[in-house]
Amino acid sequence: MKNQPAGNVFLVTAPSGAGKSSLVNALLENDAGLQLSISCTTRAPREGEVDGRDYYFVSSDQFKAMRDGDELLEWAQVHDNFYGTPRAPLARALELGRDVLLEIDWQGAQQVRRMLQGVTGIFILPPSLDALESRLRARGKDSEEVISKRMAGASSEIAHAHEFEYVIINQEFSVALQQLEHIISSARLRYARQAVMNPALFDSFGLPR
Ligand code: GDP
Ligand code: ADP
Ligand code: 5GP
Repeated sequence: MKNQPAGNVFLVTAPSGAGKSSLVNALLENDAGLQLSISCTTRAPREGEVDGRDYYFVSSDQFKAMRDGDELLEWAQVHDNFYGTPRAPLARALELGRDVLLEIDWQGAQQVRRMLQGVTGIFILPPSLDALESRLRARGKDSEEVISKRMAGASSEIAHAHEFEYVIINQEFSVALQQLEHIISSARLRYARQAVMNPALFDSFGLPR
């Protein structure tokens, strides 16, 4: 049976370089009610990435142990590396009624949907494939080989956009950020969520919850 969490779960998915981490980081700066799920990965840290903040950077053996120990809610292989969502911190946050955002690929998004109800999926598109490639280069954190691999994978990631409730085209950053904020706000205004957050008020009006 699917689990109906008290908090909202947001999935943010995009091809590499579309701007998902920049958008999510900007969103989190202004939203104390939203918690980012920190994934574990076998990928090497990029310059400036911090263990425990951007990712838990683990060895292949450590990843395998977590996967086999059922410590991951979902996991997938993406561009030669393994990525997974630790189960315990997510479950704790949701039990406390906090909203959690997962930056994961389409394979992980499908797995999470099979396990949790009421998930809100947001797909970030770049304005074009050329713009995507320019952004990967401008980021300056990946080798040419890695950029080629990420560009090669972009179209297959984009082919899954239709599985998501919302699509944001990240052309003008500030516009895309505002659109992301609106999606989060409307999810919080859904009846079921308002009933959970305001039980006494709903009871006083005799509203079902
Ligand atoms: P980025 O795409 O440039 O942000 O590069 P990353 O190496 O940070 O991420 C590569 C891919 O792995 C992206 O498609 C992410 O959405 C995906 N990813 C990150 N964390 C997870 C996770 O916990 N689970 C799954 N399934 N995918 C993840
Ligand atoms: P992702 O997490 O999807 O791989 P990033 O957030 O790392 O993408 O963004 C990739 C690069 O594109 C970064 O250098 C970022 O500063 C830049 N970027 C993000 N959004 C925009 C935008 N709307 N216009 C121009 N550049 C952008
Ligand atoms: P490799 O680099 O050999 O492909 O895998 C790295 C680690 O991920 C290994 O410990 C491997 O067992 C593990 N792994 C987890 N899931 C899979 C899977 O579905 N296929 C493969 N080949 N390896 C997996």
